[in-house]
Amino acid sequence: MIPVIALVGRPNVGKSTLFNRLTRTREAIVADFSGLTRDRHYGTAKLGKRQFIVVDTGGLEDSAEGAIFEKMASQTLQAIAEADLVLFMVDARAGLSAQDQEIGRYLRKIGKRTLIIANKAEGMKDSLHLAEFYELGLGEVYAVSAAHGQGVRELLELAAAEL
Ligand code: GDP
Ligand code: MG
Repeated sequence: MIPVIALVGRPNVGKSTLFNRLTRTREAIVADFSGLTRDRHYGTAKLGKRQFIVVDTGGLEDSAEGAIFEKMASQTLQAIAEADLVLFMVDARAGLSAQDQEIGRYLRKIGKRTLIIANKAEGMKDSLHLAEFYELGLGEVYAVSAAHGQGVRELLELAAAEL
């Protein structure tokens, strides 16, 4: 089985941008992977000879503040359930939000292997809010810039080491 990596996080953190970076595709590739639901956005990422299925989720787009967990689209919950590794994306410029905390609480509760990815970390190193994300209690925080491609290969190497 090819390992499955799910990109999860509140709206606008850069999940789709990272998805496009990792997979270099804009089209969903859904047909080839039996056992996976067809209504999500799948692509493949490659690192040397290793291959990964990457799942982009957009299921949190409609969530209002609070009780995000209950409002989390089942699509996202299913993507988490079928993932071998979750990349939990947060915004290094905006800092830790209540929505991030709710998602983090859920990921801790289910005990899914998770890496915290602090996106939008290009430039302005002094004004980034990286330390806050350790409060999520999910371990190390990795800074990347999906838009600029910074840290993306290293991220894939880290993910590969977990899988
Ligand atoms: P999603 O809602 O989590 O899928 O987020 P998107 O990938 O649609 O990105 C939301 C916005 O953040 C867009 O305007 C992106 O151009 C921007 N964005 C994504 N990645 C980065 C980044 O690394 N740095 C900066 N500055 N902006 C980014
Ligand atoms: Mg998106």
